[in-house]
Amino acid sequence: MGYTPEMKELIKRVEATRPARVERARRGENFPALSLEERAVVLEKFHPDYQKEGRRAVRVGRDKGLVLPDEIATMLESRSMLRPDKVDLTKIDFDTDVLIVGAGGGGSSAALLASNSGLKVIMATKLRHGDANTMMAEGGIQAATQECDSPFYHYLDTIGGGHFTNQPDLVAALAHDAPLSIAWLESLGMIFNKLPDGRLDARHFGGSSRKRMNSSGDMTGAEIMRVLRDEVRNRRDRITVLEFCPAVELLLDETGKCAGAILYNMETREFFIARAKAVVIATGGNGRLHIKGFATTNHYGATMDGVVMCYRAGVGTTCLPSTQYHPTGVAYPEQNVGLLITEKVRGLGAHVLNNEGEQFCFPLEPRDVESAELIKEAVEVQKAVLTPTGRYGLWLDSPMIDLLHGEGTVRRELPAKFIQFARHGIDISKEPMLVYPTLHYQNGGIAINADCETVIPGLYSAGECTGGVHGENRLMGNSLQDVITFGRRAGVSAAAYVKKGVELKKLTLDHVAGYEKELAEAGIDNPMVAPILLPDYATDEVASRRMAEAIQEAE
Ligand SMILES: Cc1cc2nc3c(=O)[nH]c(=O)nc-3n(C[C@H](O)[C@H](O)[C@H](O)COP(=O)(O)OP(=O)(O)OC[C@H]3O[C@@H](n4cnc5c(N)ncnc54)[C@H](O)[C@@H]3O)c2cc1C
Repeated sequence: MGYTPEMKELIKRVEATRPARVERARRGENFPALSLEERAVVLEKFHPDYQKEGRRAVRVGRDKGLVLPDEIATMLESRSMLRPDKVDLTKIDFDTDVLIVGAGGGGSSAALLASNSGLKVIMATKLRHGDANTMMAEGGIQAATQECDSPFYHYLDTIGGGHFTNQPDLVAALAHDAPLSIAWLESLGMIFNKLPDGRLDARHFGGSSRKRMNSSGDMTGAEIMRVLRDEVRNRRDRITVLEFCPAVELLLDETGKCAGAILYNMETREFFIARAKAVVIATGGNGRLHIKGFATTNHYGATMDGVVMCYRAGVGTTCLPSTQYHPTGVAYPEQNVGLLITEKVRGLGAHVLNNEGEQFCFPLEPRDVESAELIKEAVEVQKAVLTPTGRYGLWLDSPMIDLLHGEGTVRRELPAKFIQFARHGIDISKEPMLVYPTLHYQNGGIAINADCETVIPGLYSAGECTGGVHGENRLMGNSLQDVITFGRRAGVSAAAYVKKGVELKKLTLDHVAGYEKELAEAGIDNPMVAPILLPDYATDEVASRRMAEAIQEAE
């Protein structure tokens, strides 16, 4: 397929400016970075998080009055899939010590640590074990593993990166546990990039004052998931994995303790009562809500389910209004839209260019600033390329990389990206990529403390669905560390709680009924049913066919 003839014409402008730009890059000259004041202006005007339109106060629940993106507020004001009075809570389908909801890095780590205590663990997940954002992570995992570094510097960099909005106890836990997480992953068989003498080959990255990015090629997340999944499988006697079985509502007991969850089998469409003495929510992010219509890097199951279920049960949030947009998501070909183009491409020297082939920003600004600059160039300056489906795109001049570092560098350093584009007839070592900001990370979420406890006894949470670790801006590499640190802590805390002796009383869904009453009292008539489980990308034609089938089935 490749680029259209019109796009190929525009690429000629990129090629025309390339020799001079490569020469400047060789001399170490770059487009000037913005001053702090200029950054503030561009963020204020163009970053989606800073704009008033598309945001509103949530009208119910523990954080009532909090201003959130419309899509998140609407999700929190949604209705349950269940009619609480119609569910028979005396018929228990699964009974366990610890129920883990979600099977990415956070959930799998929690399952392993909880099972260390000899407890019975069920890990219920929406898709297959490992179908998760963790699997897709590329760049690396932060940890102070080098002699020149320490948790002290990791703490300071993380707090600074988060614009001082982070929850300090969580950052301290992250920085403290990080080297232990790396040692644990290695003990499970993870293969990290190493120096010839056997030490970890940690690299610099944006926002770090020390070399702290530990990686496994450009597939760090897949390598983490490989060892976690293997280890979970090794423990079949203690950990049961239920795939295609998402949780749709939490269960409490009549004394207010968390007591399990209602699971939904996506294949048979049956509901199951899973009673558990402790529950860990590790359901990941919200990219598939497509806030403000942005594409996303996230996997299909990233629909904010855990936050919705916990919020209905009375758990508040931290930093939820803040979302991370990655400046370089794929804008073309359509099949790849939203997929991540790692910072490494710009780090290797590729310039970001407008439709005239001109540079318009320093390519290594922080993620939020760089995203705002791309949006400005498209929306205000109107110098973006338009794709055949009407999307904005700006060029990322990847062929510069081979010119700067030698033939073959693109294929060697960016093998996954090379293949992804080659499948659609684009050789990124010869032609630039078309990119635009993409929804990448849910900065905030479920409120927890450093032991992963929520305000509900027996309910724990870990990973991207929580808030506070990263404040309003996550540093690259800190999320993989977050899921290992807090996944492990959640498993330990849940197990310790169960071991102290938990006596569950009668199960209830009164919190769901109470929430729906609050919605009615607030005059909210929102047709959305959540957790939505999967985003609905049906075209009008498919939607009407489904409706016709449903009517026929009902008759
Ligand atoms: C393309 C990409 C690249 C990234 N690169 C990096 C990187 O280099 N370094 C870094 O630190 N971070 C990176 N991140 C971020 C990081 O990978 C994630 O934030 C992190 O892995 C999230 O882990 P998690 O366990 O919280 O969630 P996930 O790994 O997303 O797992 C969530 C799990 O919960 C399941 N689930 C969802 N809803 C339900 C439900 N209702 N019931 C049951 N199960 C449910 C999902 O199916 C999934 O199994 C990247 C993210 C993406 C998308």
